[in-house]
Amino acid sequence: MSPKRAGRADRGGHAPPRVVRALDELRGLLDADRAAGRRIALVPTMGNLHDGHLELVRRAHGLGDRVVATIFVNPFQFGPSEDFDSYPRTFERDLELLAGVDCHMLFAPEGATVYPHGPDVITRVEVPRLGDILDGESRPGFFRGVATVVSILFNMVQPDVALFGEKDYQQLLVIRRMVADLKMRIRIEGVPTVRDPDGVAMSSRNGYLTAEERARAPALQRALVAARDALVSGSEAAEVEAGGLDALAAAGMRPYYFQVRRQADMEPPGVGDPVIVLAAAWLGRARLIDNLKV
Ligand code: AMP
Repeated sequence: MSPKRAGRADRGGHAPPRVVRALDELRGLLDADRAAGRRIALVPTMGNLHDGHLELVRRAHGLGDRVVATIFVNPFQFGPSEDFDSYPRTFERDLELLAGVDCHMLFAPEGATVYPHGPDVITRVEVPRLGDILDGESRPGFFRGVATVVSILFNMVQPDVALFGEKDYQQLLVIRRMVADLKMRIRIEGVPTVRDPDGVAMSSRNGYLTAEERARAPALQRALVAARDALVSGSEAAEVEAGGLDALAAAGMRPYYFQVRRQADMEPPGVGDPVIVLAAAWLGRARLIDNLKV
């Protein structure tokens, strides 16, 4: 037993994940796992981890024998005026957090491994319509960047199952659509949103909020809860959407959308369709999103 493994038993903790940077090494290790009959569960992230990410890793243990997280801040999904350069990179802390949830492997590729000739000339994956509305409309090219990098990560890791948070509900649907359309043999698992005690959905970007803004942030989930309750008691979607926009503005946010949509595909709902309320708003430097199923 290595000293590290012995220490793990003594402390009741876990060994840190094996950090892999190169594609050859990743493939060698995972081929051996597959040959031994292990199922591989993938948790893609951009790092600056919080308990939402860690919940995906915890759930991954129930679905795979080998849990692989990835950290890659994907330049292709950031717009020109967005926060790619300032996106928080906290690798050492992320590694400790992943050790705490017994993540087995952390794949953190260099940009050149993912985009050998740069993101501008990479082969692209587009999910039309579903990828063009709501967050796709406010962030042009965002879902193309996400679908492209996730398909590359899928081909590098070749997981049996991959986990995504319901906080990014439209993203979860985009990935499901991509996997279905491209006939990828990967199970996609959605994980419910992890929230701070005051209801705010955990997000790497919450760190952009000042203390005063953070104190106003719960208004987003409160507006969604009020919308859900109003829909349940029979209010019209249009009225609920207008009320939601007003509530966000009253809390000092700059709302981008507050919408009642069909859960299955983000289209305007028909009678009897299960619906979800989704909202996006700027609060100071942070663009916050959240949603609630009705
Ligand atoms: P990101 O690092 O922001 O790209 O997120 C990586 C994954 O974690 C995505 O599947 C997100 O949906 C998921 N995630 C982020 N925040 C949360 C949260 N508060 N609860 C559950 N999942 C989350």
